[in-house]
Amino acid sequence: MTKKYTPFNKPYLTGKETTYIEEAVASGKISGNGMFTQKCQTFFEDTFQIKKALLTTSCTDALEMCAILLNINEGDEVIMPSYTFVSTANAFVLRGAKIVFADSKPDYPNIDETKLEALITNKTKAIVVVHYGGVACEMDTIMRLAKQNNIFVVEDAAQAIDSYYKGKALGSIGHLATFSFHETKNIISGEGGLLAINDNQFVDRAEIIWEKGTNRSSFFRGEVDKYGWVDIGSSFLPSEVIAAFLWAQLENIEKIQSRRKNIWNQYYQGLLPLEVDGKIKLPKLPNDTTNNGHLFFVLCNSFKERSELISFLKAKNIHAVFHYLSLHKSVFYKSKHDNRVLINSDMFTDRLLRLPLFFELDDETIKEIVIEIKAFYES
Ligand SMILES: *Cc1c(COP(=O)(O)O)cnc(C)c1O
Repeated sequence: MTKKYTPFNKPYLTGKETTYIEEAVASGKISGNGMFTQKCQTFFEDTFQIKKALLTTSCTDALEMCAILLNINEGDEVIMPSYTFVSTANAFVLRGAKIVFADSKPDYPNIDETKLEALITNKTKAIVVVHYGGVACEMDTIMRLAKQNNIFVVEDAAQAIDSYYKGKALGSIGHLATFSFHETKNIISGEGGLLAINDNQFVDRAEIIWEKGTNRSSFFRGEVDKYGWVDIGSSFLPSEVIAAFLWAQLENIEKIQSRRKNIWNQYYQGLLPLEVDGKIKLPKLPNDTTNNGHLFFVLCNSFKERSELISFLKAKNIHAVFHYLSLHKSVFYKSKHDNRVLINSDMFTDRLLRLPLFFELDDETIKEIVIEIKAFYES
């Protein structure tokens, strides 16, 4: 008997996406910064208390905008976790930065705030934090450290939509922050992203960089009578077709988030007995943070055990996957990294396993996955 295949991810469609795309097309305005773009940006500003939001074609692009806005130059140092997606680092490397990789916390993949002070030098321009799985980094400590040392904080909130730290939305705390709407995230537009600007000094320049280095946005608001080339920039804004798709998702954010969190809790409750028995570890969330149901992971005891569990689940038609490979050991960066050993980052690289988590994953299947994982550890 072959069981039905359970993918790792399945993009969820609310049903309104094509309706809004048709509206955008019918309006005759399909390039960027139109009605749907405005609706999405206002939604972010109002819902998450972000000073200024700009849609981008990806989170990668939003991160590149951050590096330009912070005037990152050759030789500047940027501190970030090694356990993250390449784009977090690439955006700053493109501007000539030296990346100083920090270790993760022992009990969660987020950057270890207690290790940061020792990494700050007079060349440090920014700390980039990544809220892994939508769970907040220790922002009070990080913002205090940044202020004392006159450096900027960028939140890579790619996974962190609708999640909170001491009541504040992630993406509203750092000087700048970025979100992703890639099809693997909670709220999607295929490819897509957003730059959140929380420090007023960056607002005007961000619009210029977004519009290819021109002051086109202020021209359309009637603030200047001509528009032209005033700074560096690129084409970072998505078309209205993308924004229309995204709007259909944002309208349904509560429904999407509540189902994802429900799935997360079912995994957690279901697998708790295995943690109690010392067979695996489950995500340990700090007190001051929420969880947005972006991803669910278990920690195996070794690389070998994780590989065996992946194969075991694969044989049952369940697709579970590991996540990041420490960037300080990557082909591209290992020769540029100083010799510091980042044990927790490497530990998550070897032992973290993500389970299927998507809106349409039904309760029955979650139960089966839990049963199979228990069977693996009992055999
Ligand atoms: C998904 C992700 C990105 C990249 O997002 P894109 O929109 O695909 O460019 C960057 N950082 C983190 C932490 C991510 O999870």
